[in-house]
Order: sequence, then structure tokens, then C-alpha cells
Amino acid sequence: MDIVTQSQLNTLRQALESRLSVLRSELSGARQARALAQAGQESSDTKDLAGRLQLDELDELHEQRALDELAASEAALARLAAGSYGHCVDCGAAIALPRLRLLPATLRCAACQHLHEHRSA
Ligand SMILES: [Zn+2]
Repeated sequence: MDIVTQSQLNTLRQALESRLSVLRSELSGARQARALAQAGQESSDTKDLAGRLQLDELDELHEQRALDELAASEAALARLAAGSYGHCVDCGAAIALPRLRLLPATLRCAACQHLHEHRSA
């Protein structure tokens, strides 16, 4: 198994940090949009209500996913700082670098992730 070098860790940290800043601005944008929508709700007519509620649900799904990813990325950065980054939480094996590059916030190696998803499905 390849050992992840310090410069590779730095690259992954940068990827996580830039993802975090994108997620944070997405979330604050979503909150602003919602606040604006709520402020405008009294004056709008009921015809748009159904469409707007549907939109709200989509926004909430999107926002929840962004929140989950934000938490996962923050946890990954904490593991980076603690030196435990890049090891599978289930089996303890080093997670392959291509997988970390693709999913820098991942907790598990591919095999354990597969089992995990299979169990929760
Ligand atoms: Zn594993």
C-alpha cells in the first residue's frame, strides 16, 4: 500500500479547505435566499405557493447534503491535524490515494464503504 506523503496530505488539505469555503458560501447564500423568501411571503399570492414549497423542499435537501459534507470535511481536517487521516475507520487500513483524491472527506476504504452501504441499505 502506498504511503501518503506530506505533500500529498497538503494537497488533500487544500482540497478540503477549498471545498469547505464553497460549502460555507453556499449555505449562507441558501439562508439569505430563504430569509428573503420569508420576508416576501406576506405580499405574494397563493398561486405561487405550491411551486415555492416544492422549491423549498429541494433547497432543504440540498442544504442538508451541504451540511453533511461540511461536517465530513471538517472532521477530515481534524483527522489530518491529529495524524489519523487516510486510515479507514472500520478496518484501519490505509485508504488508497486515488480514493482520497476523489473523496478527500471519506472515512472508509472502498471495501468497507461498500459493506457499510450494503448494511445500511
Ligand atoms: Zn476499511
